[in-house]
Amino acid sequence: MKEPSHTDILIIGGGMAGGLMALLLAEQGIAVRVLDGAPMPVCPAGAPALRVSTLSEASHWLLRHAGAWAHLDAARVQAYRHMRVWDQDGTGEVAFDAAELGAPALGWLLENDNLTAALYRAAAAHAHLDWRCDVAVTGVRRAGQGWQVLTDSEVLSADLVIGADGARSLVREAAGIPAAPRDSGHHALVATVETDRPHGACARQVFMESGPLALLPLFSPPDGGQGHRCSIVWSAWPQRIEELMALDDAAFGAALTQATGEALGAARLVSRRAVFAIQERHASSYIGPGLALIGDAAHVIHPLAGQGINLGLLDSGVLAEELVRARAAGLPLAHPGVLARYQRRRRADNLVMQGAMRGFKTLFERRELPVRWLRNSGLDLVNRLPPARHAFMVRALGRAGDLPLLAGPLPLSNETVDRGGE
Ligand SMILES: Cc1cc2nc3c(=O)[nH]c(=O)nc-3n(C[C@H](O)[C@H](O)[C@H](O)COP(=O)(O)OP(=O)(O)OC[C@H]3O[C@@H](n4cnc5c(N)ncnc54)[C@H](O)[C@@H]3O)c2cc1C
Repeated sequence: MKEPSHTDILIIGGGMAGGLMALLLAEQGIAVRVLDGAPMPVCPAGAPALRVSTLSEASHWLLRHAGAWAHLDAARVQAYRHMRVWDQDGTGEVAFDAAELGAPALGWLLENDNLTAALYRAAAAHAHLDWRCDVAVTGVRRAGQGWQVLTDSEVLSADLVIGADGARSLVREAAGIPAAPRDSGHHALVATVETDRPHGACARQVFMESGPLALLPLFSPPDGGQGHRCSIVWSAWPQRIEELMALDDAAFGAALTQATGEALGAARLVSRRAVFAIQERHASSYIGPGLALIGDAAHVIHPLAGQGINLGLLDSGVLAEELVRARAAGLPLAHPGVLARYQRRRRADNLVMQGAMRGFKTLFERRELPVRWLRNSGLDLVNRLPPARHAFMVRALGRAGDLPLLAGPLPLSNETVDRGGE
């Protein structure tokens, strides 16, 4: 029988987390193979795609470091320098400004496919990175000290398998690692809208009893654009989302305008609406013998603070760093101690973030007067206390400065995309 084709590291899933993982390893001269069941990722053209993500400074740093940021379609990336969060049911409001930290931006909004296409393009520069699209993994099984990975046409083997295959991870299942879904009680409706006034490079979020609504600044249309576009993520109880989906476009626009308190004047729908059921998960372990999980394969959190993939990209950064450390120490890459260090550095942090998202959701759902008073006072207090505001902003930026082994000299080219277009 033919010997399975072997690599030291095999990543299953070439999404945002898996793609970054592959580039960071290849950058360090570690041979790696990626298998993804989807076709080759392509950057959207024309109207904005519905799936977008806000990226933190830490994610931006990692993507620059991996050489992927320069491959983005820069015209489709929007930096945001301001953030405004308020309670619809009161007067509490907090505003953040990147200038207070001397940072160029608080974050960036881009289409998920712009990023995966950039990661894929950046991979072409690496001779020992073998990234295959349209190759779905159908099975994963333990073989000796390593793993065998089955596709429709071949059997591959690896010392270390990295599961980056999303919320319904086959790798996680094959390793017998539980990650039971937990209904968040919310669905998320996403769409592209146009508003009367420009977004001013500000990400806005209003908390309502039924759930939060984010109004996120999108890149300007290529014609220099009169249209002021935002992406919305409207999370709410399923029944409320059903009501919103049943409205015609004009009535939906009116509901949106009302919900945002006319923050940008009237809002009009300019795309279809799509709905995602939000099921949270957290794998009981991120590791197994010769195996590690990253990104949504390890954890799925409520999108209300736009942190999901930011956590996933940090997983990639930390795991890459631990593998580099192992190689420097002459340890096998799949050494249990190496994987345990990765888990120790990421799992507690991710659990805290997941818990915080649940806490926010519950806090803003409460109708009792004392709770409403407390949360509005809390928002105002944070707004009035610079140290508290700074602490929140630093957390949102998610500094990646604690990855010394990967850091090396930062690529200080002018590749930063800073389209702060008002
Ligand atoms: C409405 C909404 C809004 C969000 N907004 C934000 C935001 O603003 N900021 C943020 O940080 N996060 C956000 N998130 C979360 C973010 O989208 C996810 O965390 C992110 O997409 C997960 O990326 P991933 O690479 O881990 O997994 P995925 O994106 O799920 O990628 C998995 C990859 O694995 C491949 N794959 C799966 N199974 C197999 C198999 N058997 N064989 C081969 N390949 C396979 C798939 O083709 C895919 O390419 C949001 C989520 C939702 C639902």
